[in-house]
Amino acid sequence: MVVAELTEAQLLAVWESGSGQGPQDRALLLARTAVGDTEPVADLTLAGLHALLLGFRERAFGSSLPCATDCPACGEPLEVAVETAELRPPAPAPAPASAPVLGARTEPPTGSFRAAGREVTYRALTLSDLLAVAPGGRDSRRALLQRCVVATTPDAGPLPGHVLEEVARRLPGVDPGAETAVALECPGCGHSWSAELDVPGHLWAEIEGYARRLLYEVHALARAYGWTERDVLAVSPARRRFYLEAAG
Ligand SMILES: [Zn+2]
Repeated sequence: MVVAELTEAQLLAVWESGSGQGPQDRALLLARTAVGDTEPVADLTLAGLHALLLGFRERAFGSSLPCATDCPACGEPLEVAVETAELRPPAPAPAPASAPVLGARTEPPTGSFRAAGREVTYRALTLSDLLAVAPGGRDSRRALLQRCVVATTPDAGPLPGHVLEEVARRLPGVDPGAETAVALECPGCGHSWSAELDVPGHLWAEIEGYARRLLYEVHALARAYGWTERDVLAVSPARRRFYLEAAG
C-alpha cells in the first residue's frame, strides 16, 4: 500500500470534502487519500488504519504531533509533542499469517475463547464496522462488538453482555496498534495518566488548521497582488511568506 504525498491543492480538496462529514467518513476519506485512492481501505483493521494514517501524517507534516489537553487532576493546560513512533505497537511482528498486512487484502485477524458454555470466535474491528454503526451510546458499542463475533458454538442466540465485554477486552490482543494511548504527566501537580489519541481525528484537525491558514494566505495575496488561488498555490510556502511580509 503506497502512502501518497499530499500537495496543498489536494489538502484543500480533502478539507472541502470532509468538512461536512462525521468522524467515521473522514477517517475513510483520509485513508483513501493516503493510498491515492488506488486500493480498498474499508477492510483495514483499526491498527492498519492507524499505521496507514501515521505514515501519511509523517509524509505530510513530519513525525512530531503537537497535542493539547488539560490535566484531569488539576485542570492545568498541557501541551506536549507526541512522536508517531510512540503510537505504533511496541513489537512490530513476527506476525501470524492472519495478521493485517498493509497493502494486502487480508481477512481481519481472529481469536477465540470459551465463555458461558460456548466457544466464541471473534475478529478485529475494521473501518467498515465503524462506518456501518452510527456512533454514540451503549447501543453502538454493543453493535460494534456484535459485528466482531464471527461464530459461536453452539449457536444458541445472542451473546450475553458480559461475554461481549470479554470480546472487547480481547480485541487489542488480535489487533495491536488499535489502541493509541499516550502516557502523560502534569508538570504542575505530578499526576500521570494515559490518554487515547484519536489518530484520524488528530490528522483531520491538522488538515483543517492548515487549510484555513492557507486560505487566509490566498485571501491576503489575492487582495495584494490580484493573484488567483491557483497562482498562490503555485508559489512555495517560503516565497509566499516573503510576499505576505512585503505586502504588509
Ligand atoms: Zn495537574
